[in-house]
Amino acid sequence: MPNPGSAALIAVFLVMATLVPSGTARADAPSDALETLRREAAKARSELEKATNDMQGRQRVLASSQIKLRGTLKDLAAAEAELNKIRQPLARLANASYQQPGATGSMAVFGGGTPDSALRSTADVTLLARSQQALVDRADELQQRRGRLASIAQDLQSRSAVEQTRVQQEVDGLKAKSAQLTARLDAMLKKLDPTKRLELGCDKSLAAGARKFPNGLIPSKYLCPLPQKGKQLRADAALAFYKLNTAYKRHFGHEICVTDSYRSLADQHRVYAERPGFAAIPGTSNHGKGQALDLCGGIQNSGSVQFNWMEANAKTYGWLHPAWAYSNPFEPWHWEYGTQDD
Ligand SMILES: [Zn+2]
Repeated sequence: MPNPGSAALIAVFLVMATLVPSGTARADAPSDALETLRREAAKARSELEKATNDMQGRQRVLASSQIKLRGTLKDLAAAEAELNKIRQPLARLANASYQQPGATGSMAVFGGGTPDSALRSTADVTLLARSQQALVDRADELQQRRGRLASIAQDLQSRSAVEQTRVQQEVDGLKAKSAQLTARLDAMLKKLDPTKRLELGCDKSLAAGARKFPNGLIPSKYLCPLPQKGKQLRADAALAFYKLNTAYKRHFGHEICVTDSYRSLADQHRVYAERPGFAAIPGTSNHGKGQALDLCGGIQNSGSVQFNWMEANAKTYGWLHPAWAYSNPFEPWHWEYGTQDD
């Protein structure tokens, strides 16, 4: 059965799905506002799901009553056809009995003709009268049945109409509610800081899924986007980076400049071909685990204010400049989340 409300509902569910991660509670507790938004979204989703189930149940009842109505209307048509078939012979018979000379009374029959023919006439008239009565009874019975079926059909039809109106109102109500909810969520999301929005959409439990894939072969649905366009990291690294980025922005007035983030195996091969001996052997880079970043905007220069700030503050957020990158090879731009065995 077509459901005009479903497209709007799906849209809302999709918005909810990004807002309500299924994973366990976060170690780093989100702010109260985010928690409230999350709870409201979850509540609205369950309300909508319940209403949708109710509506689908009602639509199933309506569909079955319509099947019943179709069956009843078919019965009615059959009864009417039968009645029409009988009407003609009944009319002919009535005509014939009126033309029979003695049909109006038995006294007239005994008054004239031979007793034999009189007797035969009486028998014929009796037979005709009986047949006629049987047909009249049958016609009455069909007429009554027709009447009953017609009233059942009318009853079902009007009940269907009422039910259909109610379902339509329900669908309209849900559509309005969905639109209102979507608008409210949009407004709430717009008020949020873009980084907070990313934080909401990044489910920490995705990191465990990402770890199951080989280096450089993590599907992007297991990674989280960074505020820096086109850049992605494993969920735990991304969540930590959001905070580091916010702190950096507070200090320098702009976000961290990112050259390179998660690097697929194909990209690792490309980089290795371009910079042999400088980039990691393909399939071994921490970029392929989604936990390394190459940074710019001054950080790439050892001893710069940006590099020094990172050196002093990044570890607060779980980010570090690995020991090897100080000399072998010298890569001041390369930063990693967690330990190298993580
Ligand atoms: Zn790097």
